[in-house]
Amino acid sequence: MVIKNLELETVCGITSKLPDNELPEIAFAGKSNVGKSSLINALMNRKSFARTSATPGKTQTINFYNINKELYLVDLPGYGYAKVSPKEKEQWGKLIERYLHGSKQLRAVFLLIDMRHAPSANDKMMYDWVVSQGYNPIIIATKLDKLKRSQIQKNVKIVKDGLGLIPGTKVIPFSAVTKQGRDEIWKLVEENLLG
Ligand code: GDP
Repeated sequence: MVIKNLELETVCGITSKLPDNELPEIAFAGKSNVGKSSLINALMNRKSFARTSATPGKTQTINFYNINKELYLVDLPGYGYAKVSPKEKEQWGKLIERYLHGSKQLRAVFLLIDMRHAPSANDKMMYDWVVSQGYNPIIIATKLDKLKRSQIQKNVKIVKDGLGLIPGTKVIPFSAVTKQGRDEIWKLVEENLLG
């Protein structure tokens, strides 16, 4: 995808009305620090357009990036913060649920998992939850550059087994440092646009 035009078009918080977009949407979910901003920046060929988790008090918003007036990359708020109150967790859940239920244009959900470690209980819950909402997430295994070549296949299997993936689910290793995996992810995004 050649990025000709890029705009952070809508930012939705817990009380916002979600946009009734006409263009197809592709959403990205993952725990905080998994590398979601880095991935979205890499897909958009930008260094720091998407927020990064260095931002203190990172807010719980859904961000809609309009790409070439062709599609939206939708950045869902990260989960698994240690310092989040039960009330904030509940609001986070409601916001995402409202989006997954309400969007008429959502074509695919990518779930990011840090491939250095086995998926956490939160990762597993998120995967099962997205599935229960009727989507079959594509997994992006992040921080590929942190692994030795000999560890990659083993860790992909740990991610697969840990999440209990539906057979046939794709797992794409990705590095924001080397950009390995980016073209494959764009290819899947484009394939999913058709619905
Ligand atoms: P987010 O909270 O999911 O948006 O995570 P960020 O994109 O802000 O990344 C969290 C931290 O992990 C930052 O310090 C990034 O520089 C680092 N990071 C993200 N992706 C990669 C990657 O592919 N490789 C390496 N080595 N570090 C990464």
